[in-house]
Amino acid sequence: MPEPVAILVAVEQEERPALAESCAGGVDRVLEQSVHDARMNGVIAVGANHPPSTYDIAELGHGASLRHHGSMDPQPETHGQSGRAHEREFVRMWDELEPIGRDRSTGGYHRYAWSDADLLLREWFAGEAAARGLELTDDGNGNQLAWPADAELAGRGDAVLVGSHLDSVPDGGAYDGPLGVVSAFAALDLLAERGVRLDRPVVVAGFSDEEGSRFGIACAGSRLMTGSLAPDAALGMRDRDGLSLAEVLSARGRDLAAVRARPDILDRVSAFVELHVEQGRGLADMDAAVGVASAIWPHGRFRLDFTGEANHAGTTLMQDRRDPMLAFAAAVLAADEHAREAGARATFGRVEVLPGGTNAIPSSVRAWLDARAPDEASLVALVEAITLQARGMSRRDGTGLDVTPESVSAAVSFDTALRDAAAALLGGAPVLPTGAGHDAGVLSQHGVPTVMLFVRNPTGVSHSPYEHADPDDCLAGVRALADVLAHLAAA
Ligand SMILES: [Zn+2]
Repeated sequence: MPEPVAILVAVEQEERPALAESCAGGVDRVLEQSVHDARMNGVIAVGANHPPSTYDIAELGHGASLRHHGSMDPQPETHGQSGRAHEREFVRMWDELEPIGRDRSTGGYHRYAWSDADLLLREWFAGEAAARGLELTDDGNGNQLAWPADAELAGRGDAVLVGSHLDSVPDGGAYDGPLGVVSAFAALDLLAERGVRLDRPVVVAGFSDEEGSRFGIACAGSRLMTGSLAPDAALGMRDRDGLSLAEVLSARGRDLAAVRARPDILDRVSAFVELHVEQGRGLADMDAAVGVASAIWPHGRFRLDFTGEANHAGTTLMQDRRDPMLAFAAAVLAADEHAREAGARATFGRVEVLPGGTNAIPSSVRAWLDARAPDEASLVALVEAITLQARGMSRRDGTGLDVTPESVSAAVSFDTALRDAAAALLGGAPVLPTGAGHDAGVLSQHGVPTVMLFVRNPTGVSHSPYEHADPDDCLAGVRALADVLAHLAAA
């Protein structure tokens, strides 16, 4: 039950702009973001040759007491006394990433696009590529691609991309993103250990700004690359400090003219594989370490503007009030009720109340609904049911309600042949959908045959410092990824 205190907590802890994490499909509408809330407790601003920004944290010290949240203790499987090379590499890479962008007070990560932490992560990626003799390229949008150095191999038009992202949501977990990148490098190491010959170029990808935590558009890197986000729209996005992406990129010495769709690169890609920590408890409930994604649910973000009349909390009779909080409350309860009934998800995670006085009836309540459902008809029905119930209350109270879809992403069905092949290769691994957006969804929508692997998350908690995957499951993920790559990269 949403207690009043939960509403206050939501007001206090607005997590990110409205369009974040709505990967897959085009952005239908990009609205002005009122991103003025720069509350980032405990974040350390790092002085550098760019505008001061609350997005910069590049903490390098170890907060020992919080180490368990993200650490990957060396617990290699029983392949030998000290584990195999790819397992040691996995642990080394994990430990190197662990302190970058971490908030010591929470143990969570603040790895925002083009922040100091992000630059360290990019350097780290470049180092891993170099260590494996890979040739690093940047697509101009900040997406890092590590190609085989063999020009003849790299020049083939059937590259297999493998990777994920290194950025995070505010106070995010260690696994969302980095697990896929670290596993990609470790899978290459495992394939080398196995002596597997790769006939197609396998390219490790680190996608830029997947979470959209800073500029509000999730999967900005992959959307720019595929052309589903226009460069001008992207360059005009502003962060909570009021800096535009164009200003931030310029300060980082990047070429703005290079921000553009890259069909020339995508034409050389025959498949994309993204491994990701599961952001739910599906695999835990099925007692499986690794699964294969079937689809990404359609999802959307809707802004609900409830309007009423500010007045005195002590002197205004209950029957005389035009309190928009009540219709908002009806919407919150309706979201819970209808999402449960439909097997869908509906969340109000962000709300702004004006004037915001304890002793004042609000004049307006602005809230954002994040809604996700197994299919598009259910999503539409869910949002309609929620607004209908809220409108009933606003009619009773004489208050107003406007609903604005800010971004709606269509369903993604991953390539069925690839999905089935991967599940079979992995010994009949479970196939399951997800409600979370990913770069894999963007590439899949663009027509790149795409497969996603999930690694078990014991609690299902994600976008939190408590996000976790067991070391043995992570290594099972690396083996699964290597198996899929060996299959895809065979001639
Ligand atoms: Zn992710």
